[in-house]
Amino acid sequence: MATASSLKPTAEPRDDVAGRLLRWYDAHHRHLPWRVSPAELARGVRPRPYHVWLSEIMLQQTTVEAVKPYFRDFLEKWPDVRALAAAPVEDVMRAWAGLGYYSRARNLKDCANLVAGLPGGFPDTEAGLLALPGIGAYTAAAIAAIAFDRPAAVVDGNVERVTARLFDIRTPLPDAKPEIRARVETLVPARRPGDFAQAMMDLGATICTPKRPRCMLCPLRQDCRALAAGDPEPLPLRLPKAERPQRKGVAYVAVRADGAVLMRTRPDKGLLGGMTEVPSTGWSEGRSGGAGKDGPPFPAAWRRVGAIAHVFTHFSLDLDVHRADVANLSAPAGHRWVPAADIAGEALPTVMKKAIEAAIPGATKKRRPSAD
Ligand code: SF4
Repeated sequence: MATASSLKPTAEPRDDVAGRLLRWYDAHHRHLPWRVSPAELARGVRPRPYHVWLSEIMLQQTTVEAVKPYFRDFLEKWPDVRALAAAPVEDVMRAWAGLGYYSRARNLKDCANLVAGLPGGFPDTEAGLLALPGIGAYTAAAIAAIAFDRPAAVVDGNVERVTARLFDIRTPLPDAKPEIRARVETLVPARRPGDFAQAMMDLGATICTPKRPRCMLCPLRQDCRALAAGDPEPLPLRLPKAERPQRKGVAYVAVRADGAVLMRTRPDKGLLGGMTEVPSTGWSEGRSGGAGKDGPPFPAAWRRVGAIAHVFTHFSLDLDVHRADVANLSAPAGHRWVPAADIAGEALPTVMKKAIEAAIPGATKKRRPSAD
């Protein structure tokens, strides 16, 4: 539990906050596969913009641990941006399957195609990076700082938390964002801004954690206004979130005698664009499946074999899963039979893996990149 003890910040937290933080980072930074450590930087190793960009796109909305095996798998398949640009988009979508937010994979591919054609490779400024597909303000700042050591204010969730506590910002998020950004800008040092950005992230991930921050180990405890005020843990405050709507539907897993499963590809645009799915009803509030265009792909002895739940950013989904074992039918228009051995190699989003697993346990589990 944080204790204020007798610490009292006597000046603006900017006074040598960066220096204290960088000294802590030199000794306690996380070892991440895409990171160039302070010791390596000192030896002249430079971060590869391709690695920084790939990791930052993968890390949007996902944890470091989830990203590690995907990052390694991508580098093995496509060691540089030209290799990624030359890859068929379907292969990239397959390799991305399971990371979620599939529009990011499409943007990743579009971005690689564009950068592979630029004589200098990735632009080295925030403005230049912002012009690329799939790169927003946060990612542009992160790549500019980490890959090119530009003095950019990099503000992710970890940095928001550290900064709100450091300056005891009581305005709830998201309204506090401009104030937090302005405060971070005052902290960014002219020397080692890339390491500073990563140090703020590491401090938030390992010491200034959402619950039970370990203030006694924190290099910024003497600067921290929320600690001095006695109770940093509730910061940053947040406005209550709107409740997620609940949607329902039915997924249909048709299994042929040889084990092949009926699948189709979702339209390129929209939710899970371009990914593979088993046929399903629409996903509507209150819907529980039905006949007609929202019913099963063909008449058969469908039986309910389970139900799955999945949470998307803007809604929660409950899917009933129905299975039918069928003879050697041809696939209806827009569908295809995927042999059992190829199911795991399809670009299946997590929600579809769950649905197929509910009907055919183990069917999707063969090719996930290993964790090491
Ligand atoms: S920055 Fe976070 S961990 Fe450090 S003293 Fe403040 S609340 Fe504690």
